Amino acid sequence: TMILGIETSCDETAAAVVENGTVIRSNAVASQIDIHRRFGGVVPEVASRHHVDQITLVCEEAMNNSGISWDDLDAIAVTQGPGLIGALLVGVNGAKALAYAHQVPLVPVHHITGHIYANRFVQELEFPLIALVVSGGHTELVHMKEHGSYEVIGTTRDDAAGEAFDKVARTIGLPYPGGPEIDKLAKGGQPTINFPRAWLEEGSLDFSFSGLKSAVINYIHNEQQRGHELNHADIAASFQESVSEVLVKKTMIAAERVHAKQILVAGGVSANSKVRSEMERAANTRGIPLSIPPLSLCTDNAAMIAASGTIGFLKGMRADLSLNGKANLAIEDF
Ligand code: ATP
Ligand code: MG
Ligand code: FE
Repeated sequence: TMILGIETSCDETAAAVVENGTVIRSNAVASQIDIHRRFGGVVPEVASRHHVDQITLVCEEAMNNSGISWDDLDAIAVTQGPGLIGALLVGVNGAKALAYAHQVPLVPVHHITGHIYANRFVQELEFPLIALVVSGGHTELVHMKEHGSYEVIGTTRDDAAGEAFDKVARTIGLPYPGGPEIDKLAKGGQPTINFPRAWLEEGSLDFSFSGLKSAVINYIHNEQQRGHELNHADIAASFQESVSEVLVKKTMIAAERVHAKQILVAGGVSANSKVRSEMERAANTRGIPLSIPPLSLCTDNAAMIAASGTIGFLKGMRADLSLNGKANLAIEDF
């Protein structure tokens, strides 16, 4: 199967062609990071406008570099949600126009299933599995018993992990997006500050990061009031340690609970070097195979949407030209 994937849920305009859900034939991404950086975060109206500017070019680039023609396509898969509604609509409408013009089926994709399926470019999925999704808007433990089946068994009660990275980064004066900046800064520091870990109730697989975020902000204010010089690298390393410890422990508990044959990590925060190394260590100790996408496939891209769309396509999921973007969308419906 040859699927063209289209992704516009946030601040990257992306299109990619994927063969059999496992081979990337082309992968075009136009990132708006430089545009939004000066605002300190994604501005929805600005994002929509840039998606409109880029969508045609990016789709053409993906098709041109794929080595296939429109006639060879089996379907077009597009992110229906969740995400910024104005941004989503650009991708959805672009996909509808292309599906109509070339008379190919249209397959709706849930963005988070895309992040999960980025792992299929690394290795074949083995079920049952536990996927930890850690991104700008999500922190979820997902139990999958087979392809295209998703049960959320843990979720954040407040901030997403990536959101916490971005907010803490902003507090210590780092540019948007803060995750990669904290990661870099932490490499030169030590986790000497004991920030809280939110374990929640015994056995809970839920997460909470707003307490940690406040603890970091309070620490900074207190130190400044005492006239102490701040060690930003130590703050970054300590914050990162707290986040990764909770993510890793809860993922391991979930994996053992469902007797997982595989652990997947997905979403932008899976690019974090500490999360990657600690997750590897913990999975190794327990003898559970682990997959984390290469860095370029951790953040938003369309190859992952095409990969998940391939499963949807094979299961017979179709959308007609009334398809609408949805800012909120349940993963269980996909
Ligand atoms: P969602 O997927 O939930 O809709 P999104 O698409 O905006 O949100 P992603 O593109 O998956 O999110 O990930 C972006 C997030 O990943 C940002 O919060 C960013 O700071 C974070 N991130 C990227 N690289 C790293 C890193 N090395 N360490 C920590 N966080 C990172
Ligand atoms: Mg992004
Ligand atoms: Fe994302």
